Amino acid sequence: MSNNIVVAIDGYSSCGKSTLAKALAKKLHFIYVDSGAMYRAVALYFLRNNIDLENNEQIAEALKNIHLNFHSRDYQSHITLNDEEVSDEIRQMHVADKVSAVAAIHDVRVAMVKQQQRLGKSKNIVMDGRDIGTVVFPNAQVKLFMTADPKIRAERRYKELLPTNPDITLEEIFDNLAHRDYQDTTRKESPLTRAEDAIILDNTDLTQAEQLLFALSHIEPFMA
Ligand code: C5P
Repeated sequence: MSNNIVVAIDGYSSCGKSTLAKALAKKLHFIYVDSGAMYRAVALYFLRNNIDLENNEQIAEALKNIHLNFHSRDYQSHITLNDEEVSDEIRQMHVADKVSAVAAIHDVRVAMVKQQQRLGKSKNIVMDGRDIGTVVFPNAQVKLFMTADPKIRAERRYKELLPTNPDITLEEIFDNLAHRDYQDTTRKESPLTRAEDAIILDNTDLTQAEQLLFALSHIEPFMA
């Protein structure tokens, strides 16, 4: 089997990219990298250290002090920020509200893209994000662009967050998703857009099993 197959999954917020990516990695024994977790961890560091998003020197200094690492347990991807496990905290709303502004910063993207490309070198990987098929791995063998009805997306994320955030409202989540989609698609630096050769996967009415089969049918030809 070839050992440098890259599956790039891009799309809007809360479209089920990471659920599909994890299922594919498990099925195919590929490495899974959640690039959004990296931007979230940087946003968390910026929040904790009151980094001014207009101050390039502060940002450059902060980026030097940020060390991210992935480890996987049971095909769940965990991320550490300077050796502290932050996988749960980066999913909270205070980080979700800040992350797209942080991810729009040029120096932040340069640093993250470099790490992402290194993680994918000479390995079979599935990576999900916003610019994986366009910027990080423009030569990926398989590119998927995921989308779904915004109301369905908000409901899915609401169900996921409610157990640990009993005060959260569906409206708050809907607004956060709409705001992030707007920021991600309109930013100057690597905006979210479908790569010309990406296959569209609208999962509004699809089960997780159906999405997995669809994706596998596009990857398997490369695994012969
Ligand atoms: O995928 P997730 O929703 O966790 O990503 C959080 C945010 O990180 C996105 O809303 C986007 O602003 C940013 N992001 C990005 N490029 C990526 C992955 C995520 O700009 N490749």
